[in-house]
Amino acid sequence: MCVAGCEQAVWAALSRRGFFRGAAAAGLAAAPVFAAEAAPRTFTKAVDLTHTMSPDFPTFMGKPGIEMQREFEFKKDRYNLFWWRLDEHAGTHLDAPIHFSQAGLSADKLPVEQLVVPLAVVDVVYKAEQEADYLLSREDLALWEDKHGRLPAGCCVALHSGWGELAISDPARFIGRDVNGTMHFPGFAPEAAQWLMKERQVAGIAVDTLSLDNGQSKEFSTHRLWLPSGRWGLECVANLDKVPANGATLVVGAPKVKDATGGLTRLIALV
Ligand SMILES: [Zn+2]
Repeated sequence: MCVAGCEQAVWAALSRRGFFRGAAAAGLAAAPVFAAEAAPRTFTKAVDLTHTMSPDFPTFMGKPGIEMQREFEFKKDRYNLFWWRLDEHAGTHLDAPIHFSQAGLSADKLPVEQLVVPLAVVDVVYKAEQEADYLLSREDLALWEDKHGRLPAGCCVALHSGWGELAISDPARFIGRDVNGTMHFPGFAPEAAQWLMKERQVAGIAVDTLSLDNGQSKEFSTHRLWLPSGRWGLECVANLDKVPANGATLVVGAPKVKDATGGLTRLIALV
């Protein structure tokens, strides 16, 4: 837990001046320009928004997202060590801009100022219960702002569909594959993503499902709009029912792997 002085240091680092210096140093002319709110914040607890990764965790591709090979074993070698083979886009993970663009930022190049951000959670659980293919709409964003005020500058907007707990309790429903092989789960409407890009200053969007687009999408329109704009996405987010709709700070522990298009990410909300 960070003491008050430490929190202030974190938030001071997110000031507008600090952000522009970092962005200029990284040569990010095309990256979205915004800063998280500079005012110091306090928090009393940390909430883990990460699913435990394993070969059994449901994936978009349908095959295990991680293979773990034991290289050294304590009984024999006096220490434990695995080799991992990983799908970059499995488990709770980041989509970097390069995932859907020719020359976008890779995960290692994302400025840290854009990885510690205010978290806005949009609850569409009831609507998603009625319709598995539900698309978070411009109207859902308007309803959030009616209740909580304008989306904070530099925030992450998270879709809370209720699918997160299905990843563990009912993986088949989490994937939602029908007899024709089409998947069914909620996502962001491209129009909503476009509005966030044009009308608000948003660092990233997050979903508690397998994809930023809904399950039946063939075009991946939200991915194609959002990621090439220099913004990131998060998929398979856990525990969105355990954080407030507004006021938490999201820490995105994205992998710093050269040229990575995304990857397994530890997500922590400071509440
Ligand atoms: Zn992904």
